[in-house]
Amino acid sequence: MPAVRAVDRVIDPQPVIEGAGVHLHRSIGTETLNYLDPFLLLDHFVSSNPEDYEAGFPLHPHRGIETVTYVLQGEVRHKDTLGNKGRIGAGDVQWMTAGRGIMHEEMPQVRPEGIAGFQLWVNLPAKLKMIKPRYQELRAAKIPEIKTDDGATIKVITGAVGKTVGPVTEIAAEPTYLDIMLPPHTAFTHPITQGHTAFAYLFDGAASFGRKKQTVGHPRLVVFGNGDEIRASTETQMARFLLVSGRPLNEPIARYGPFVMNTREEIEQTLRELRAGTFITA
Ligand code: MN
Repeated sequence: MPAVRAVDRVIDPQPVIEGAGVHLHRSIGTETLNYLDPFLLLDHFVSSNPEDYEAGFPLHPHRGIETVTYVLQGEVRHKDTLGNKGRIGAGDVQWMTAGRGIMHEEMPQVRPEGIAGFQLWVNLPAKLKMIKPRYQELRAAKIPEIKTDDGATIKVITGAVGKTVGPVTEIAAEPTYLDIMLPPHTAFTHPITQGHTAFAYLFDGAASFGRKKQTVGHPRLVVFGNGDEIRASTETQMARFLLVSGRPLNEPIARYGPFVMNTREEIEQTLRELRAGTFITA
């Protein structure tokens, strides 16, 4: 019998203001939950008021992490000092490996439909923190969507559901990243490797999670304990949630804003490079 993972914690997202004044709901990377190894941050942005998001995230650096942007509604334009630029529209994913360093801007566009989506930060192991930056950009049409026999609709961004494998590959944390929609009266089960960290972020409706079928409403972060599989189900309401898992690094972290390294000295070195103008190397 597979061990169904219990609900370890249920966390209310906190309102925060980031970038040049973007209103977000943060559920990882707060005093309540600073680090859910290997996940450093989870932000949910959703607004139809341009004042909440139009200032965006002007030019800023990253080192030592991956940032994963998944847009549900609207559009985010990005460009970086390495010459990459593009747009992330509804249903698109950008999995950006900052490695030794990128300097970029991320600007939500003012559109009639507003903006909605997520940014997740995934830590890199010490041995990969200084690798060359890399992007995996997936248009919505490249992300497989399947329907299970039980009636769940699942977009597979990375990881596998049955024989369907997500298009984001070769990520150190061996992650799963699924966008799951359960109609009312639907059950969902998904295996997750023993020892991997797993959470659900419920952003619409209500669902019951875990061994004891704990019912939660949106928006909530549900952190699972260890085990072999995740269970979720709905009753009279539908539910939509992200299901994310990854292999913990179990390494020390030194965190300073957009930089996450293993030691203070590495952070200080990063700040020296920024001041000296040697942070970005060709
Ligand atoms: Mn960024």
